[in-house]
Amino acid sequence: MKKIVRYRPEKKTRPYRLKTSPFPVKTLQTTDRQRIGQLTQDLAEVEHKLKHRNEIMEALATQSVESACETLLVKLLKLINLEAGAILLYRREQLSHLVTQGVEDIELIEKDLDQYSVLRRAFVMRKSVQLPLAEMMYESAIPVQSPSNGGVVGVIYLKHPFEQFNLEQVGDILDLSRKLGMTLERHLLFHQMEHEKIKTYQLLDSIREAVLYIESSGEQIYANQALLNMFPPKLVSQSQGFRHAYERATSLFEHVDQPDALHDYIGQLMNGEIPGETIELSAFRGNLLLSAYAERIAIANVEWGMMLVLRDVTKEKELDLKQSEFVSIVSHELRTPLSSIMGFTELLMRRSLDGPRQKKYLETIHSETVRLAELIDDILEIQKGEDVSQGIVKKRLDLKRLVYEMRPMFELASSKHRIRVLFEAGDYQMTASEEKMKQLFTNLIMNAIKYSPDGGTIQVRGHMKGSQMVLTIEDEGIGIPEKALPFVFDKFYRADNSDTRKIGGTGLGLAICRMIVMDHGGSIAVQSEEGKGSTFTLQFSTEMTED
Ligand code: ATP
Ligand code: MG
Repeated sequence: MKKIVRYRPEKKTRPYRLKTSPFPVKTLQTTDRQRIGQLTQDLAEVEHKLKHRNEIMEALATQSVESACETLLVKLLKLINLEAGAILLYRREQLSHLVTQGVEDIELIEKDLDQYSVLRRAFVMRKSVQLPLAEMMYESAIPVQSPSNGGVVGVIYLKHPFEQFNLEQVGDILDLSRKLGMTLERHLLFHQMEHEKIKTYQLLDSIREAVLYIESSGEQIYANQALLNMFPPKLVSQSQGFRHAYERATSLFEHVDQPDALHDYIGQLMNGEIPGETIELSAFRGNLLLSAYAERIAIANVEWGMMLVLRDVTKEKELDLKQSEFVSIVSHELRTPLSSIMGFTELLMRRSLDGPRQKKYLETIHSETVRLAELIDDILEIQKGEDVSQGIVKKRLDLKRLVYEMRPMFELASSKHRIRVLFEAGDYQMTASEEKMKQLFTNLIMNAIKYSPDGGTIQVRGHMKGSQMVLTIEDEGIGIPEKALPFVFDKFYRADNSDTRKIGGTGLGLAICRMIVMDHGGSIAVQSEEGKGSTFTLQFSTEMTED
């Protein structure tokens, strides 16, 4: 007879049966069950630890090291089943950040100051140190080292009841220390880079020239402060660093008067050509004159970008213009004394004159030579870049006497003209430069002679009007066309009519007259009728001026 043995599984430990299992179902022995139970428990533990490790990684990746330290300490203590510990961070060997759990901050600060403490020993020896703390209680310090130079950048401090950590715990602690070291290093490098970047930008901003740095890719440009001041951008954010994208650097092209030339120049640079010579540009309809040059920026032969430097040369150009204008003004003034020297010497050579007249002519020649020498000094001064108007000496001067003294010189300048000088009673004294006043009357009377080619009378009159003296120079010459009247005192302006075209000149005489009059607080005006003559009126105050 066949014995039937019926299998009855125990109620409590009913084996789990996979419905879809392709394997034959086997019952499990108690030891297996225990083992599985153990495995499941281990697995849960591993999972738990993995979760903590992941959280550690996450904290390090997403937060700054300082703010991550708190999370790190909590996770580490959980991983190794401890309740008390700390993380200390150091910057330049000084404690810079501290987080604690289950230990007082002050306790660690004191330990940090004590050279025999577990902290200091780990710091100096650059290796883990363990010391007994109390009965069945130990403290350990594990240095956190920089992966690049091995320097200690932090210490992990732990309080624990066992003398030794197991292998897994040691692994976890060392792992955290390594990761912390790497993260600290990464942050340090990042900060250093940021610092360097800011330093570079500050350097660029401190340059007075406008600088535009364009990366080789053309995607990013950097405009320094001088450039932003020169061409204030509209849409651009002015945060530090790359200030705006290349496409948006339009404010430059908008204001430059030669956008095509600038565009070509930048295009050339972007193609890797660095034109040797500078390019002259202007902006804001000629109000800003610029000189631009470019430099290629390459590091270890790798092209990074190029720098366009724009220099504001408006003042320089203005100065150049002023200097050349001054030179032409001075050379204009050189001609007048030269011609009177020539006239008087010719006269002396041709005629035999009596003693007093000869002496008078020689004196005039002498004073005109002195004027010439003074003018030459002025030219030399201007070449040195100095302001000539500064050296002018003003003193109390009798204009009536001055005009009378100059009269023979004018009489001699033309035999066709009659020079009449008529001063009403009064005191014609004022504070003035003798040299400049001579220039003023010479220019006006020589014009009167020059612009009355048919001769006639030239009258120099003077009368007082309160404390003002009014002087007029009147001729019977060609006159000035009405439309030219407002411009005759402008530099290089000459009235355009057939007579003036025949009469030579540069158009500077009256501009010089106006400058002299302004410099003496006076006024100058003209009245004229074409074909009839012109009258120039000067007005000066007789009151003393401090100058
Ligand atoms: P220069 O620099 O040699 O003096 P210029 O005589 O032409 O040259 P200004 O003395 O500044 O220059 O005079 C400017 C213009 O004013 C002259 O070109 C002339 O057309 C006109 N002008 C000046 N004075 C007279 C005058 N007395 N009569 C008629 N036209 C005059
Ligand atoms: Mg003139």
